[in-house]
Amino acid sequence: MPDDRIDPGRRSLLRGRLRRAPAPIRPPYASDRRVLDACVRCGACADACPEGIIAAGDGGYPEVDFGNGECTFCGGCAEACPAPVFDLAQETPWFQAARIADTCFARMGIVCQSCRDACPTGAINFTIGWGGPSRPDVDASACTGCGACVSPCPAGAVTVVSAGGQKGTSNVR
Ligand code: SF4
Ligand code: SF4
Ligand code: SF4
Repeated sequence: MPDDRIDPGRRSLLRGRLRRAPAPIRPPYASDRRVLDACVRCGACADACPEGIIAAGDGGYPEVDFGNGECTFCGGCAEACPAPVFDLAQETPWFQAARIADTCFARMGIVCQSCRDACPTGAINFTIGWGGPSRPDVDASACTGCGACVSPCPAGAVTVVSAGGQKGTSNVR
């Protein structure tokens, strides 16, 4: 039974706090399991990253923040790490891709193509809608999850999310 003494706005705020936070993005070539099992939280990977996108997150474990830039897959973080966390020999640095939310300006009819201009692999394509605005969509098979499209977006509409090891044909929206 709902508690009428709680202000509805406060109730929805409390509900929001109980929702699970999104899983952190670990540095490339490092799985979440290896980070939690073997990372000694020394910060060497963060210090070595020339893009400044690695920071200590929850528990002091390294997380990627694309607010500062993109991953160039230089491998510097992996080479600097003294523990068995990274595997530069793995086939794919990570399984993730960009996702564009409907808060995107272009999807609301405002001209913007900043994400497409920033993408080094041409993974963002605009389709002309019949009578509607042109929409950017991410081709998950071309997206490397580098995050270059995140910080240029004036709407804060781009996030990089886990592709669940299924990088392939369908668009990630
Ligand atoms: S691969 Fe290079 S750019 Fe990417 S997180 Fe590691 S050090 Fe930074
Ligand atoms: S995350 Fe994907 S869509 Fe965004 S810039 Fe990198 S390759 Fe392009
Ligand atoms: S940069 Fe952001 S607002 Fe602009 S088209 Fe891309 S997702 Fe939309």
